[in-house]
Amino acid sequence: MNRKEVLVVEDERDIADLLALHLEDIDCEVTVARDGNEAKRLGLARDWDLVILDLRLPGPDGLSVCRALRRESRYMPILMLTSKSSELDRVLGLELGADDYVTKPFSVSELMARVKAIFRRVESLSKRFPGGEEALTIGPLTIDPAGRQVAVEGESMSLTAREFDLLLHFVRHPGRVFSRTQLLDSVWGYGHEGYEHTVNSHINRLRSKIEPDPAHPEFIVTVWGVGYKLDRNTHLRAV
Ligand code: CA
Repeated sequence: MNRKEVLVVEDERDIADLLALHLEDIDCEVTVARDGNEAKRLGLARDWDLVILDLRLPGPDGLSVCRALRRESRYMPILMLTSKSSELDRVLGLELGADDYVTKPFSVSELMARVKAIFRRVESLSKRFPGGEEALTIGPLTIDPAGRQVAVEGESMSLTAREFDLLLHFVRHPGRVFSRTQLLDSVWGYGHEGYEHTVNSHINRLRSKIEPDPAHPEFIVTVWGVGYKLDRNTHLRAV
């Protein structure tokens, strides 16, 4: 495994030190940012393999940092640390696009399991879609798995990390029906039981961005009582 560059954004020194110690154990090179402004500056300065981002920070908070990083076109996995479960909905929420979250107080072994899961997911995506791999088109959609870009009739659309993964999951399995629970498992990873409504919200957001008429979806269609599928009749081919 290549050495991973990880940015830890955390103002509590004990937690930052603990994370750095365990990340270095799995061959990560760790940089720590201690407030929101430093996080934005460092976050945008290079392509991190992972950003671990505390929600509560001096200066701009974790949500603001996350938005700033997500405005960048390149994709960086983001793992959020939240203090209360009441903050969870915001983190899992529509606008944010964090890859995963852990609620404080967390066990280090659980957090490291999440970190490894993110690395595995990114690695398996890049294996399945190695660099330079050709873009896919579905009707007016062009999907570039390597660059994680989507264009509708040539116009580039900004999808959150999760929306992109969701679309890619459907594109890889055209015609197959997935329940909300299966989508949570495959696209969100483990540990999100009870968040089926999150799937609906993301599907709706994705449709509003890629469907010609979101009220009558042509690509990602609802299979009543079961879940969703990518319509097999949409024309999928490599360009
Ligand atoms: Ca904090």
